[in-house]
Amino acid sequence: MSEDEKIYVSYNNIHKLCQNAATEIRSVGKPDIIIAIGGGGFIPARILRSFIKYPGETNIPIQAIGLSLYENMGGIGQVEKIGKEVVRTQWLDFGALEQHFDSLIGKNILIVDEVDDTRTTLHYALNELHKDVEELAVKLGRTNEHTKFSIFVLHNKDKPKKADISREMMNGGVYIAAKTVPDAWIAYPWEAIDIDEHSVKAIAQGNN
Ligand code: 5GP
Repeated sequence: MSEDEKIYVSYNNIHKLCQNAATEIRSVGKPDIIIAIGGGGFIPARILRSFIKYPGETNIPIQAIGLSLYENMGGIGQVEKIGKEVVRTQWLDFGALEQHFDSLIGKNILIVDEVDDTRTTLHYALNELHKDVEELAVKLGRTNEHTKFSIFVLHNKDKPKKADISREMMNGGVYIAAKTVPDAWIAYPWEAIDIDEHSVKAIAQGNN
């Protein structure tokens, strides 16, 4: 894809996309915790936190998880497994969370990433977080508590997805994409070598 076919997005634009989504995120209640998928989810998560919190309310803690997509070439007899696989590079420290915050059981959880491309990453994050919370709830005899997962991304690419997001697991949470875009490469400002040039291109495309 040529440079010109990329979608350029400025920091200002990202700030506004987060601001505009805050009311919808609050429509299912104040998130108790934000889980940011690194590295693209970090900056949106931090911006969102300020807009989601109403004056006088306590800050919403942000926890980081790291997921990477890597090419699985498949072994002998594993041709069907060729494709992209998600690998956990960083996960929640449930022990520390319980000590300093609380367990995630019964909480309103907001997962944040920058882009929903093939949906593989969001599918993995939701499934694994849901599984971890459920296992803990069974262990502690707290399966009657209502844990809700919402998802926020800056951009959703309008394309066929390789995985789905289970509404059942979200348990009443919302899926919010601040903007739906065509299937093109999105250039985010935190990746820019020349941020001034990047901003000029973003403004020219109306993404400011
Ligand atoms: P997925 O295919 O699992 O939905 O997305 C995996 C990851 O690929 C995203 O979290 C993001 O880091 C990266 N990615 C996918 N599409 C784009 C894009 O257009 N621009 C950038 N910068 N990263 C992307």
